[in-house]
Amino acid sequence: MKEIILIKNGEIALKGLNRGNFESILIKNINKKIKNLGNFKISRSQSAIYIEPIDNNINIDIVLDKLKDVFGIATLCKTFVLEKDFEKIKEYAITKFDHIFKNISSFRVDAKRADKKFPMLSTEIESKIGEHVAQKYKNLSVSLKNPEVNLTIEIREKFAYIYCGKIEGAKGMPIGSSGNGMLMLSGGIDSPVSGYMMAKRGLQLSAIHFIAPPYTSDKAEEKVKELALKLSRYTNIISYYSINFTEIQLAIKKYCDENLFTIIMRRIMILISEKISVLNNIDCLITGESLAQVASQTLQSISCTNEISNIPIFRPLIGMDKLEIIDIAKRIDTFETSILPYEDCCTIFTPKHPKTKPDITSVKINESKFDFMPIIEKAILSVKLEIISNY
Ligand code: ATP
Ligand code: MG
Repeated sequence: MKEIILIKNGEIALKGLNRGNFESILIKNINKKIKNLGNFKISRSQSAIYIEPIDNNINIDIVLDKLKDVFGIATLCKTFVLEKDFEKIKEYAITKFDHIFKNISSFRVDAKRADKKFPMLSTEIESKIGEHVAQKYKNLSVSLKNPEVNLTIEIREKFAYIYCGKIEGAKGMPIGSSGNGMLMLSGGIDSPVSGYMMAKRGLQLSAIHFIAPPYTSDKAEEKVKELALKLSRYTNIISYYSINFTEIQLAIKKYCDENLFTIIMRRIMILISEKISVLNNIDCLITGESLAQVASQTLQSISCTNEISNIPIFRPLIGMDKLEIIDIAKRIDTFETSILPYEDCCTIFTPKHPKTKPDITSVKINESKFDFMPIIEKAILSVKLEIISNY
C-alpha cells in the first residue's frame, strides 16, 4: 500500500461556513510550495489534506520538510494508507516500523476513529495493537505518559492510516487569506520577525526598503534582499520595493530641528509606504517597532508616526522583549543575516538628543518649513520593484 502525507488543518478547522475558502487557499499554497518536486494528487476531507505522490522518484521527506513552513498547517506526517481491515492494520503495525521500533524502548498506540461505523472502539484498537507490537519487540514497553514514539492509527472515511510520529506545522492562517500587507523592512533583527508574524496571520507580504546612497551601501541593500529571500520561504513570493530616500533625508537635515529629525523621517517613510501600498492593492503596513525600545518607539513617537497614516499599521512586536524577538529570529533563520554589520538609512544623521516625547503640533510646524511633497512624489516615481522568491 502507498505512503502519503497527511496534513491536519490548524485554526482553519475552527472556522464555520467559510472554512472551504480557507482550505482552498491553503491547498493552493501547498501546491505552489511542492509543485517543483514532482506530481501529486491533493485532496481534502474532515479537516485534513491528503498529499499523494504520483511520480515514483519523489522523496517524501523533502516534501515534508518544505511543507512545514506553510502557514495554516497544524501537524503533518508521513503515513501508510490501508484498507479498514483490522488484520491488515495489525500486520502493518509490526512490519512497517522496524527501523524505529528496534531503536527505542517505549511507545504507545493512539487510535482515532473518525469513522464511527468501524466495528472496534479506539481503546480496543489501542490495547490490541499495543499488545501485538510489544510481543514482537521485546525491547519495547508501553508508556502512556511519556512514550518515545506514538504509533497512531486513524480510521477515516475511506481508509485507515498508520504512522509513527508527526511534525509540528507552522500553524496560523494560510498566506493570502487575510489580504495584503506591506512590511517596512530594514536590515535589523525586528522587522523580518514582524513580517513573519503577520504572514502567519494570513497576510501576503510585500516589502518596502528605504536606501540612502551614498550613505548606505549596495552591500547593505543586498543584506535586506537576503532577508526578504529568507522570509519568502514562508510567504510564497515577496514583491520588494526599493525607495531612494537620500534627497528627503538631506532636506530634513537642512530644514528641520535636529531633535525631530528621526520622527519626521519616520513619518515620511510611512507616508511613502502608504502611497505605494494603496497603488498596489495593499491595505496595511507592518513595522518591527516595540514599545520603548528606542526614542522613536515611545508612546508619543508612535502617536506622531501613526498620525500620518490612513491605513492600519500593524506592530506585532509591540509588547515583546528583545530577547524573545531574537529567539524567533533564530528559529526562522533571519538572525544571522540581520546581525551582519551594515548601515541603515535610519542610523545616518541620527540626532545627538532625539526627542523622546515629540508633540504632533511642533512636528507639523517643523514639516511646514519646507515643501517636501515634490521630492516625496519624485521618490515614489523612482521606486524599483523586484520579485523575490525562494523557489
Ligand atoms: P529593526 O530591527 O527592524 O531595524 P529597529 O529596532 O532598529 O528595528 P528602527 O530603526 O527605529 O528600529 O526602525 C523601526 C521600524 O521602522 C523597523 O522595524 C522597520 O519596520 C522600519 N524601518 C527602519 N528602517 C527602515 C528602512 N531603511 N526601510 C524600511 N523600513 C525601515
Ligand atoms: Mg533598525
